[in-house]
Amino acid sequence: MAQHFLLTAKSRTISELEVARMSEEEARVTFEKLRWDSTNGKPVCSNCGCTESYTINTTSKTGKSIRRYKCKACRKQYTVTSGTLFANHKLELRDYLMAIIVFTNAVKGISASQMSRALGVQYKTAFVLVHKLRASLMDNQSNSKLSGTVEMDGCYVGKTRPENKKEDRLDLRLSANANPNKRCVLVARQRDTDGVGANKTVTCISKGESTLAIDTFAKNNIELNSTIHSDGAIGYDNLEAWYNSIKGDHSIAYVGENGECSNQAESFFSRFRRLQYGQCHKLGNLYLSNYVNEIAYREDNRRVSNGAMMFDIARKSINTPTHNEWTGYWQGNKRTSERLVA
Ligand SMILES: [Zn+2]
Repeated sequence: MAQHFLLTAKSRTISELEVARMSEEEARVTFEKLRWDSTNGKPVCSNCGCTESYTINTTSKTGKSIRRYKCKACRKQYTVTSGTLFANHKLELRDYLMAIIVFTNAVKGISASQMSRALGVQYKTAFVLVHKLRASLMDNQSNSKLSGTVEMDGCYVGKTRPENKKEDRLDLRLSANANPNKRCVLVARQRDTDGVGANKTVTCISKGESTLAIDTFAKNNIELNSTIHSDGAIGYDNLEAWYNSIKGDHSIAYVGENGECSNQAESFFSRFRRLQYGQCHKLGNLYLSNYVNEIAYREDNRRVSNGAMMFDIARKSINTPTHNEWTGYWQGNKRTSERLVA
């Protein structure tokens, strides 16, 4: 049997030690090359796009050295983080790279409390930091639709804990007793053309595995006339109108005689449940879509080295514009509604 990818040498191209040993200047140059890719790290004014600038080295009140640039054209001052997710950062730039390698290495996802211990920062700081990384993954998703053979499935989050005494327990099969905070995670995964695994994953959150939610999700994300494998749930019945819909029956076999199979979707849920139960324990509905998308990213990049993934996440985060919902989160500036498909 082939060796598991994470046990191979090519999965480890960078270590947390290497990042921890970087100087602040090395971290800044790394971010500058990722942000100003087209000029190989030469500063580009975020206001007017001019590449000619003066360099100003300053020190913050806390003794942190800061490299600023002053645009020769519009005279505006800026830094590598200006206008990005990391604007007005309190931590050193190396700490952000450190957060990204810790986040990358956590293949089943990471909780804010674990990140706070890794970086030696408050829980609140770590919470916002890991959510900024998730937001950058969310904002940098590919716009192209899935095609070819796609697997779809759903799983539920927010189960009701049964009461202690039998006589107090509710019949949870009845919709009247359903937990109003229960949500359905829908996933669609495009199978690799070589037939091994899946290479592209999209997700969404809905209140249930309803026909409306499934139709909307599929039409927004899957090319018409693609082949869709799903389990026997009735919510997938309508797909026949626009797709080559193949339904399996898990009560008989996980892989049917004619190849009906949604094992790649199940693989996604497997990793998602490890994040939910093994790492974070409680996922708020408000940001559930971001957690789910993080797992989609991890599934799609499961065979990418940790170095390549770290630089990919760093590139995405340093090129993501400042997020209103992650500026002043603990002061009450948070998302006001969930991201639901239907
Ligand atoms: Zn300028």
